[in-house]
Amino acid sequence: MRRADCLAALGLGPLWRIRQDGIAAGGALLDGSEVSREGENLAQEAMVRGALLARPTFSDENLSKAMPVDPVERAGPSSSQENVRQCESLGEVAALVAACRRCVLHEQRNCAVPGVGADSADWVIVGEAPGADEDAAGEPFVGQAGKLLDAMLSALGLKRGEGVYITNSVKCRPPNNRTPQSDEIDACFPFLHRQIALIKPRIILALGRPAAQALLKQEVRIGAARGKLFRFDSIPVVVTYHPAYLLRNPEDKAKAWEDLCFAHSALLDQPARVE
Ligand code: SF4
Repeated sequence: MRRADCLAALGLGPLWRIRQDGIAAGGALLDGSEVSREGENLAQEAMVRGALLARPTFSDENLSKAMPVDPVERAGPSSSQENVRQCESLGEVAALVAACRRCVLHEQRNCAVPGVGADSADWVIVGEAPGADEDAAGEPFVGQAGKLLDAMLSALGLKRGEGVYITNSVKCRPPNNRTPQSDEIDACFPFLHRQIALIKPRIILALGRPAAQALLKQEVRIGAARGKLFRFDSIPVVVTYHPAYLLRNPEDKAKAWEDLCFAHSALLDQPARVE
């Protein structure tokens, strides 16, 4: 998919580029028919640029100190939790997820959905929970919301499976696609925690409220959390809307694009990976 097509899927019109300084810049107009949209593009650029310039700096004073309590420690010792913590690869985590019965969500699952992507990804993207399509395929974000997520990633020059790891706050589908409950998120959290510890990403993007709350261990309102940089195990966390929400509320796609640019900017402030 061409990048312009990806941005069109986001409802953001002509090509945008991420400059070296992390600022989203209005890109080249693609053909003559789009020249009349230049003013609209500039307004959009001003909006994105303004959001980025207004972002908090990444000084320690401005960083949230939301450091979660180790859920393994919090829940007390058990052999299965210890097994999760001792996993030395994403494959080992996936094997434990597939066999897991730690919460009621295992009862109606078709497939557990541990996650997909590179084991040394710079980006970890955390969604809410598998839906029907994901439960059938065993892969996260494969339905309409997944197509939108892929378009969002492509607009940043990213691709599923290459430099990105995609997972959810719970690995099994909640019945009727309901929101996962806090005890289910807590039960599943050791898997997410271990995945992040193994991948060591440079940025985590939390899609939607359950994902943000799973990581930050605090009440989160997406509107209030947008534009702030949180931390999970010292890794920067950016919060934005879930693609399924954006499909229902396309007027907020521009805000999601601002958040992606913000996350990209935060990643550029991180040191390069040391393998
Ligand atoms: Fe286990 Fe997580 Fe599935 Fe619950 S949602 S059964 S904790 S893998």
